[in-house]
Order: sequence, then C-alpha cells, then structure tokens
Amino acid sequence: MNASGLSADQLKLQARVRELAAGPVARRAAEVDRTEQYPWDNVELLKDEKLLGMTIPTQYGGQSKSWLDAVLTIEALSAACSVTGRIAVETNMGAISAVMAYGSEEQKKMAADMVLAGDKPAICITEPEAGSDAGGMTTRADKKGNRYVINGRKHWITGGGVSRLHLIFAKVYDEQGNEEGIGGFLAIRDETKGLKITKREPTMGLRGIPEAVIDFEDMDVPPSSLVIPPRGLKKGFADLMNAYNSQRVGAATVALGIAEGAYQLALDWSEKRHQFGRPINEFQGLQWKLADMSIKLVAAQALVYNAARSGEGGFPDMLLAAQAKVFTSESAIQVVNDALQFFGARGYSRELPLERMARDVRMFTIGGGTAEVLRNVVAGALLQKKLPQTRDGWSKGGAG
Ligand SMILES: Cc1cc2nc3c(=O)[nH]c(=O)nc-3n(C[C@H](O)[C@H](O)[C@H](O)COP(=O)(O)OP(=O)(O)OC[C@H]3O[C@@H](n4cnc5c(N)ncnc54)[C@H](O)[C@@H]3O)c2cc1C
Repeated sequence: MNASGLSADQLKLQARVRELAAGPVARRAAEVDRTEQYPWDNVELLKDEKLLGMTIPTQYGGQSKSWLDAVLTIEALSAACSVTGRIAVETNMGAISAVMAYGSEEQKKMAADMVLAGDKPAICITEPEAGSDAGGMTTRADKKGNRYVINGRKHWITGGGVSRLHLIFAKVYDEQGNEEGIGGFLAIRDETKGLKITKREPTMGLRGIPEAVIDFEDMDVPPSSLVIPPRGLKKGFADLMNAYNSQRVGAATVALGIAEGAYQLALDWSEKRHQFGRPINEFQGLQWKLADMSIKLVAAQALVYNAARSGEGGFPDMLLAAQAKVFTSESAIQVVNDALQFFGARGYSRELPLERMARDVRMFTIGGGTAEVLRNVVAGALLQKKLPQTRDGWSKGGAG
C-alpha cells in the first residue's frame, strides 16, 4: 500500500515494524493460533522494540507518539499476526488512553508503569444482557463509607486472565442507593479481592488472546480507584466513548493489516500458480478481483489514517472513527475471503494462514462497536440529532 503523507520518522518506524512482523512475529503466528496461548514472547519483543505504550506521554515513561504512529505499528504487525496487532492496540489505545486522559497523577503513573512493563489492560464494559446497549449495564458500584463495593458480571473481556490492570464500568450508587450514572474504576487482578475470571470464551479466531467472563463479587475498592466519575443519569459515559474512538481506530487498523497481509499472499500466489499453461493472474476474472481488493484497501487505509490524524492532541473524531471502522471491517472481511479464493483448496487448509486470517478478521464488525451500531453513530452525527434507541427515548451510551 502507498502510505502517503507519512513523515521520514514514520516511514522509518513502518519499515522497522514490517521487518519485525515478517520475521519473528510471522514465524510464531500459526502456533499462537493453534496453541491458543497468549504470546508473552511477542510482548517482550514489542517491549524491547519500544512499541508498547508508545502513545503514553514522555513524562510517564512513554514516547508521546501520535495515534498515526501507533496505527502504522498495528497495521504492520497485524499483517503477520493479528493477536500481536491487538496487543499493540490495547497497550497504546483504549483503557490506557482513557487513564492517561482522565486519571489522577497516581493512576497515570501506575497504569503507565504497568503497560510499559508488558501489561495489556482490559476494558470491561459488555455484559450478558447489555452489549450494544452498554448503558443498560447492571454491574453496580455501591458507595459504602469510604469504599465502593462492586458486583456484577462482564463477558467477552479481551485479555481476561492475562491482563492485570482492569478498567471496569459500573453504575454508581450513593450511600442512599440513588443512581449517579456510570463510572469507570481501576482494579488489578490478583491484588483486588472479588475480581474473578470465571470462563474463557471458545472463540472462532484471534485465539491467542483470551476473551473472558469476569465476575465481580463484593469487589471492594477505594474512591481513588475511580478514573471516570459518573456524570449523571442521562449523560451516559461520554468520556469513555471519547477515549474509545482511539480503540475503534485501532480495531479498524488490525482488520486493515490482516486484509493487507492476505492480499499480498494472493498477489504473490497469483503469479506463481499456473493453470491452463499460464499464471492465474492472467485471467481477467482474477485481475478484476485483485483490482477491487486493492481499491478497498487503499480506501480503508485512507479512512483509518485520516481518523488517526484527526485525534492529534486529543482523541480521534467520533464520526471519522466510526466511518473508518465500518468500512474497513466490512472491506477487510471481503478482501480476506477473496484472497483465500485465489488459493483454491490450499486456501482452505490449515497449513496456510488464509483460513486463520478469515477467522480472525471476522471479529471486527462486532467488537469495538458493531457495524450496525456504528452506522447509528454515523447517522446521528450526519443528521446532528440524538437518535435514541430505547423506547422511552433516552439516549444512553452505546459501546462496543
Ligand atoms: C473478540 C471480541 C472481543 C471483545 N472485547 C471486548 C472487551 O474487551 N471489552 C468489552 O467490554 N466488550 C468486548 N467485546 C464485546 C463487544 O463489544 C460486543 O459483542 C458488542 O458491543 C455487541 O454486543 P453483543 O455481542 O451483546 O450484541 P447485541 O447487542 O446483542 O447485538 C446483536 C445484533 O443486533 C444489532 N443491534 C443491536 N442494537 C442495535 C441497534 N440499535 N440498531 C441496529 N442494530 C442493532 C447488533 O449490531 C448485532 O448485530 C468483544 C467482543 C468480541 C467478539
């Protein structure tokens, strides 16, 4: 892909990460998928290469890198191993970016130290009965004296069981039992009693990173663990959603990287594979497929880079991030599916990465905001109207 408008430093970063991706990261990808083991060795590699926590400000030990720098890193890694790409997302965007934007000095220092040491924080929003309607969550944090007591269940939490730092969203209630809105709390697995990993989801793809059910049973935390305070019943959780725009751009980037990796494999194979006495890329049916794949990738990359650039000095623009995520996730599924087709029966074999890529890429129209919910976000922004989805007309926060 042509990466127009990149600075010399960004081109250097991109070349460096591409080399890493094509080497040690690519060599491990199939095994990570097969064994379903979190790639701690790749975490060490990213740490050594200073690719973890790049977006953390320098005063907290990071490099104050831009969202686009993170995107270039994630894109290159995901072309070889989507799990490693996701680790780069969640150590540069999402929960860590929310803490760095809204946390106290103490919280920022703690979170930055943990991420720079190799922890991928988990963000806990989704519940069995509250998915797209995240505002309908029932996990509650009750104020009791100088503590909050948290009870509830979250599911599909990425990193559950490997992540230590957790950013947990719950409805906050005062001592009299009055609801104050949704707040975000920090807790550390194994240090906070009552945070229990109770199930690992048997996922279709992205198998090297656990998705877990987490139960909070009388989890007792001090008020100093509150990162994002509740802002009233009808406000939803605007701060989280703002920070989540970086995560959405990150998720779109993983999908983009996987699709670029698959496209490159198909392009190379189309020259090597001969049928009817000629390379298969001499058949117009396949040429047009390649053309369509490349057009989708160039367009998706432009949307993702543009959304990343919109966030300099803050978080990416909500509309641009949603548009990029919808288009890229849907296009990436099509491109990977087409790339697999180029390989005929071989594409269907577990000996080649195409089937893994097809399973991995399928996730991105779901996690990080479904394509349908993000279309609602796009329409709401275009029409400049709050478009409540609930029957009583409340405009709660939709997550993902
Ligand atoms: C691999 C993976 C990782 C994840 N990681 C995390 C994580 O780390 N933390 C976390 O909190 N969550 C995580 N999630 C959960 C994810 O955010 C939710 O799955 C997502 O928000 C959708 O919720 P749901 O699965 O309950 O689907 P539902 O909300 O039940 O939706 C079902 C279908 O209805 C559609 N739909 C719902 N409401 C509307 C509407 N108003 N308009 C149009 N269509 C609608 C949806 O788009 C979907 O197609 C992850 C999910 C996956 C698959």
